[in-house]
Amino acid sequence: MTVSKEIINYPWGHERRFNAYSNYFRSIYGARVQKVSIDAGFTCPNRDGSNGTGGCTYCNNDAFNPSYCEPVNPVSQQIAEGIKFHKWRYNEAVSYLAYFQAYSNTYAPVDTLKKLYEEALAYPGVVGLIIGTRPDCIDDEKLEYIKKLSLEHYIAIEYGIESCYNKTLERINRGHSFEDAVRALEKTAALGINQGAHFIFGLPGETRNEMLEQAATISELPIKTVKFHQLQIIKGTRMEEEFKNNPGDFDLFSWEEYLEFFISFLERLNPAIVVERFTGEAPPRFLAGEGWGKKRTDQIVNLIEKRMEELETWQGRLYEKKK
Ligand code: SF4
Repeated sequence: MTVSKEIINYPWGHERRFNAYSNYFRSIYGARVQKVSIDAGFTCPNRDGSNGTGGCTYCNNDAFNPSYCEPVNPVSQQIAEGIKFHKWRYNEAVSYLAYFQAYSNTYAPVDTLKKLYEEALAYPGVVGLIIGTRPDCIDDEKLEYIKKLSLEHYIAIEYGIESCYNKTLERINRGHSFEDAVRALEKTAALGINQGAHFIFGLPGETRNEMLEQAATISELPIKTVKFHQLQIIKGTRMEEEFKNNPGDFDLFSWEEYLEFFISFLERLNPAIVVERFTGEAPPRFLAGEGWGKKRTDQIVNLIEKRMEELETWQGRLYEKKK
């Protein structure tokens, strides 16, 4: 199918070929908003024994936690250090979102959450919160509290879902089902709270076709934003052991394969969903398998957009709304 760029009127209102998170945020705040990560010292129910032990088989939070996050430090100190770090790198952001990123950031009584979240919101320049958590770590009381906060601030809950297939969720020891995730999303949406979801492509036991078919399921979830990562095998994880013992069980994406796969996926994804990430890059020192060389996130986004232009395609081109 050949359609020239000029006649396309993308529903997200700008010329990029996907519904990009950076543009979405600029449309809300009129400027770049920088996330500042926080490790508030939480754990997860599939780590502490309440719903399993060992955590997700691929997980080593150290691989994704920025160096300025130290759970022993108070939230405000972590924000101060994060702002200093980002000012040095970009010198542009004027507003910040406190990103409760490490582990499950609603896995505590509401009083504990209040103290941590409100300390972050009181920090000068912080305009909102992103709260990363699991679908089984939320309940009505927490959602009611988060709803109240979101009347005055930008608040989004980011749910780790990882796969739409229960066989995969069991295999990677998530400790919750896809139905649990849908229930949490529906409850959150019913209160009008912003929410996003996170998925991983390349998990063991899934065929590429199964991964692609998730686009139709994800398209119908009540989410505003979504992040995708390719599977990376991280040192020190249970998955590293599995990978060493049975490498044939894994079908990891090369960069070239992922580029084509991800564009096919985007073509099938609901154009109303804002896409925040295409890939994840753990620092090379954490990787047990081979990485994709030294490609920065912005280079990867550029390469994907360039390839979409060559293919004259865009997010949602093949999306079919379920009746
Ligand atoms: S829920 Fe998140 S932080 Fe907890 S073990 Fe799984 S991947 Fe790691």
